[in-house]
Amino acid sequence: MLHYKVAIIGAGPAGYFAAQALHNLQNDERTFSIDMIERLPTPWGLVRSGVAPDHPKIKTVSKVFEKIAADPNFRLFANVEIGTDITVAQLAEKYDAVIIATGSSIGKKLGIPGEDLYGSISAADFVPWYNAHPDFADLDVPLDCESAVVIGAGNVAMDVARILALEPTELDPTDTADHAIDALKKSEVRDVYISARRGPEHAAFTSPELRELPKLEHTNVVITRHDIDAAIVRAGEAPEKDVKSNLDAMVLIADSQKSEHERTMHFLFQHTPKEILGANRVEGIVYSTPTGEVTIKCGLVITAIGYQAATINGVPYENGKVVNIDGRVKENIYVVGWAKRGPSGVIGTNKSDAAAVIDLLISDLSEPKNEIGIENLLTTHVVVDQLSWQRINEAETAAGEPKGKPRVKSVDRHELLKLAGL
Ligand code: NAP
Repeated sequence: MLHYKVAIIGAGPAGYFAAQALHNLQNDERTFSIDMIERLPTPWGLVRSGVAPDHPKIKTVSKVFEKIAADPNFRLFANVEIGTDITVAQLAEKYDAVIIATGSSIGKKLGIPGEDLYGSISAADFVPWYNAHPDFADLDVPLDCESAVVIGAGNVAMDVARILALEPTELDPTDTADHAIDALKKSEVRDVYISARRGPEHAAFTSPELRELPKLEHTNVVITRHDIDAAIVRAGEAPEKDVKSNLDAMVLIADSQKSEHERTMHFLFQHTPKEILGANRVEGIVYSTPTGEVTIKCGLVITAIGYQAATINGVPYENGKVVNIDGRVKENIYVVGWAKRGPSGVIGTNKSDAAAVIDLLISDLSEPKNEIGIENLLTTHVVVDQLSWQRINEAETAAGEPKGKPRVKSVDRHELLKLAGL
C-alpha cells in the first residue's frame, strides 16, 4: 500500500473538490492524506465570502465540504498564510504533491480616468465587505447618493446590483454582515444602473439569475424592450441555447416591469465606460454608446468586470492566472479552480475541473516521500484545525438562531480565534 501526502493551498470550492477527487481515487494500492491550508481562520472560500447572502441555497454546498473534511485522512490548517508562515518550496519538499486552489481575489481594473476616486470600488472589495470577510470589514462604501452604477454584465455585477437595490430588511434573515445591513438600511441609493459594454445577446449573466429578478418584492427592474428586440435580431435565427435562454428571461423582465417601488434596478446595454467624473469623490460616469456620449450622475461606481489571482512567491503567474498546462505547474505543484483557468464558471464547474487535474497528478506520482507534514513547522503558530473551525461554525450558527439567520459571521480575526477556543 502506497501512502501519499498532498497539500492543498486554499479552502474554497476548488480545494475541497480536489480533496474529494483524491479521496475518491483511493484504492487497494494507494491512499492519500490531505492537509488543507487556508489564510483565513475560516474555510469555504467564496461560499463564505463570495456567494450572495440572499442565495442561501448555493451555500448548501458547504455540507459537501464538511463531509470531505470529516475524512480521518483530512486535516485543516486554517489561519496559516503561505509566503509568511510557510512557503510553497517547503510544502513541495515535504508533500508528494502541492495543489494551489487560491482562486482569483483581485478585481480587474477598467483603466479609465477617475477609477481611483473615492466612491469607485471593485466588486472584489464590495462583495467580501457585505459577506463579513475580516479584511474588508472597514471598507468605506459611500451610500449617501441617489444613484449607483455597477459596471459589468456578469453574475457578480448582478449580485452587487441586487444587494444595492433590495429593500435592506430583506437581508435581515440572511448571513449578510451586520455592518453591511446597517449601512444599507441607511443607504440613500434608489436607482442602481447595471451597465454592459455589449448588447444583451453577449451578457454573461446566467438565466436563473435573470429569472429571479421579476420576483423581487420591493424593487422595480427595468429593461428596455427595444434593446432586447434588437439583440434578438442580431442573435439570428438559431442563437446558442444560453443566449436564447437569457434573451427570453430579459423579455420577461421587460414585459413585467413595475414602477411602484422606491428602488429601481436599470439595465443599460452597449454602454462602454469612458471616464468616472468627480473632484474629490465620484460624481458621475461618462459612457460611449452607439448614439453618442451619455453621462449618468452617481455617487458610487462598483466595477464587476472580472478578477485576477493574487500571486504567491515561488509560483509563476501570467495574465492573472498561475502558469500551467492542464493544471500542471512545475515539479510536484498543480493548480485547480480560478487560479488555474481564470474566474469563470459556477461552483460546480470546479468539481470536474479538479477531478481532471487530480487524474494527471495521480499519473505523475512515483514512490511516496514519507516525510512528516507541516505540523513541525507550525509548532508556535495558532492553527485553526477542523475541530476549532467546527467550534466557530457552531458558535456562528447558534448566534444566528435567535435572529432567524443561518449564522452571524464574526468579522474580527481575534474574535474568530476566540470562538475557535484558541
Ligand atoms: P464574468 O461572468 O466574466 O462577467 C464579467 C463582465 O465584465 C462581462 O460582462 C464583461 O463584458 C465585463 N467586462 C470585462 N471587462 C470590462 C471592461 N473593461 N468594461 C466593461 N465591462 C467589462 O465575471 P463575473 O461576473 O466576475 O463572474 C465570475 C464567474 O462567477 C462567472 O462564471 C459567474 O457566472 C460566476 N458567478 C456565478 C454566480 C451564480 O451562480 N449565482 C454568482 C456570481 C458569480 P464582456 O463580455 O464585454 O467582456
